[in-house]
Amino acid sequence: MTAAALVRFLGPGFAVTLVESAEIGTVGVGEATIPQIRLFNAGLGIDENQFIAVTQATFKLAIEFVGWTRGGRYMHAFGEVGRDNGGVAFQHSWLRGLAEGVAQPLAAYALNNAAALANRMQRGPARTAQILPEMPYAFHFDAGLYARFLRDYAEARGVTRHEGKIVEVRRDAETGDVSALHLDGERAIPGDLFIDCTGFRGLLIAEALGAGFEDWSHWLPCDRAMAVPSERAADFTPYTRATAHPAGWQWRIPLQHRTGNGIVYASDALSDDEAAAQLLANLDGAPLGDPRPLRFTAGKRSAFWQANVIAIGLSSGFLEPLESTSIHLIQSAIERVLKLLPGRRISAAQRAEYNRQTNLEVDRIRDFLILHYWANDRDEPFWRARREMPLPDGLAHKIELWRASGQIVREEADLFSEVAWLQVLAGQGIAAESHHPLADQPPAAQIAEYLDLLAKLTAREVAQMPDHAAFIRQHCAAREEIAA
Ligand SMILES: Cc1cc2nc3c(=O)[nH]c(=O)nc-3n(C[C@H](O)[C@H](O)[C@H](O)COP(=O)(O)OP(=O)(O)OC[C@H]3O[C@@H](n4cnc5c(N)ncnc54)[C@H](O)[C@@H]3O)c2cc1C
Repeated sequence: MTAAALVRFLGPGFAVTLVESAEIGTVGVGEATIPQIRLFNAGLGIDENQFIAVTQATFKLAIEFVGWTRGGRYMHAFGEVGRDNGGVAFQHSWLRGLAEGVAQPLAAYALNNAAALANRMQRGPARTAQILPEMPYAFHFDAGLYARFLRDYAEARGVTRHEGKIVEVRRDAETGDVSALHLDGERAIPGDLFIDCTGFRGLLIAEALGAGFEDWSHWLPCDRAMAVPSERAADFTPYTRATAHPAGWQWRIPLQHRTGNGIVYASDALSDDEAAAQLLANLDGAPLGDPRPLRFTAGKRSAFWQANVIAIGLSSGFLEPLESTSIHLIQSAIERVLKLLPGRRISAAQRAEYNRQTNLEVDRIRDFLILHYWANDRDEPFWRARREMPLPDGLAHKIELWRASGQIVREEADLFSEVAWLQVLAGQGIAAESHHPLADQPPAAQIAEYLDLLAKLTAREVAQMPDHAAFIRQHCAAREEIAA
């Protein structure tokens, strides 16, 4: 992604070199995205239907959370929920409606949620476009195929690619900057700015430059995963599923040619054998191999940009894939690199600004993930401990504000909108005790009618949408060839 975007947006005055090692390989997971990925692809001029076809992708409208509370299941759907009423945010009318017994669950007022539940998909404006929004969507895709596609794209536009292992990172004795990468076979690659995309080990940022790691396992204690593909599902649900289990959760990501599955767990609460058994017992098709183990620690680098090295991807830190945010963090890091691109001299202020913005972004995502764990009402020791953990201050305040007043405030750099927080706060069963007084002004019958109308329009819109699998067959069925 980084090489493709740099060659696309930097002019002819820049030379971009990519080093990859087939022997080391990639982490090989990461299949669910959020809608911003469409901006990235569009920025690169990639045709959406071609992208879907070559990456075996399906559409994603939402994430379904199952078993996180005793209440069962809810969705965090992309896009709007309801409609503001005379300047008052929708959740206040909804909260009043709940208190008066005339409101349905949030799902009834969210087009993405209702379409996802019905396995439907459409692109473009809603039929009732004056009232209902267009559905934002993301993709589930085969990350390996996407990387191949982007590699071809990058090479076709002038990126020089070296296949080989970096065996030494050379540094300038005076400045401490990285001066060159030495590959096996005596090759040396000099450079002015180095982007470290070497995965968890952070070969440049951590091993060469010694950037530290802020460990967040006291909030997000899952430290292992096992991934296994299974036979393709008959119908591709247009949503990711995240199902809680006794010591973590399991993902299900439907692609055109297979379903991606994985279990995320805390190694001090579940053994690897138990995790593998739990994963295999909860597939909805035959497994296509053995579960593949992965280890990680939740947290972030103490600096994302240090000297002349910027860490992007897993080398910059790790947040578990509960809200499919890692590929997005790569995308937004690339955007930030382009905005703050240094000339031959890098200033400390540029680095500090890059690190400031990145810290804000990852800290907000971290809080959103912690909310899912903290607000559970499951019985197992792992989950009881999550309920008792002290929260980051910003998150504690957000929950308190919601409880007291039904208000949600989107903070600076928060990737997730007010309605994203609303769906998870409400979905995880945190009740708001009050709502905005202006929502009490309309007569009761008017609020009931308003909520009823929104739900009916949403259901009617969904009813005329095509089936998700049929939509893919018609517009973007998988193809074998990889064309740049
Ligand atoms: C369990 C799990 C599930 C995930 N699910 C999602 C998801 O659903 N959605 C999402 O957005 N993200 C997800 N992610 C994150 C996502 O997989 C990564 O962000 C993404 O794959 C990018 O990885 P990367 O390129 O940083 O690292 P890697 O894939 O590890 O790539 C590292 C690269 O560096 C090269 N390299 C390393 N060392 C050397 C060396 N010495 N010499 C030469 N080359 C070297 C390797 O060859 C490789 O090309 C998930 C991650 C995990 C662990």
